[in-house]
Amino acid sequence: MLRKPHAPFFGNLLLCYNAISLNNTGGDIMAKPANLLLLDVGFIAHEEVGYVRTFDFELPEIVLEGDFVLSNLSGEITFSRTSDGLLAQAEFSAITEATCGRCLDAVYQPLESRFSELFTLPSQADKDTDLVLPANGKIDFAPILRDYMLLEVPINSLCRPECLGLCPECGVNRNHQSCDCIIGSGDPRSSALKSMLNDEAH
Ligand SMILES: [Zn+2]
Ligand SMILES: [Zn+2]
Repeated sequence: MLRKPHAPFFGNLLLCYNAISLNNTGGDIMAKPANLLLLDVGFIAHEEVGYVRTFDFELPEIVLEGDFVLSNLSGEITFSRTSDGLLAQAEFSAITEATCGRCLDAVYQPLESRFSELFTLPSQADKDTDLVLPANGKIDFAPILRDYMLLEVPINSLCRPECLGLCPECGVNRNHQSCDCIIGSGDPRSSALKSMLNDEAH
C-alpha cells in the first residue's frame, strides 16, 4: 500500500506550540521548553524496507545545549527504512549569533548542514559502533543537530570581509569611527616591545 511519503509535520509542531502557550501558567515551561526535535519514529521500524517519511521543521528559535542558539531554523529529516534500521537524511539551515573576530560586533552567521545517520534496529546493532534506535522509538535529534551545526560555525567569523577591526591604539571600531592614531613604524607598542626585548638581552 502506498502511503503519504511527505506528511506535514510542521502542523503538529504548531499545534504543539499553541498548546504550550495556552498552558503556560508559570516560568517552568519557558525554562524547559518541549524538545521539538524529539521525534517519535518507532513506527517506521515496523514498515517495509523502502518506506520513507519526511519531517519538516520551521522554528523561529531553538536553544541547544551550551546555550547554542539557532534562529530561523528550517529543514527536514527524511527517514528511510533500510534492511538494518532507519536512515535519517537531514538538511538544515539556521542563523546563529557570533562575534566578529576583528571588531567584536555581533555577526549573524548563516549555517547550513546536510548529514545522514543510520539508526540500527536494537536487534541488529553492534553495540560498540552503531547509533541504535532507542527502544521507545524516539530519537532526540537536538544533540545530533547541535553537533553538525557547530561544525559549520567558522572559527573566526567576520562581520564583513573588509572589516577594518579595532584600532590597536585607542580601541575604536574603525568601521564606525576614525581616529588620529598613527600605526606603523612609529607605533609606541612596537618601541615598547623593542625596549623590553633590549632589557631582556641585557
Ligand atoms: Zn568586524
Ligand atoms: Zn585609534
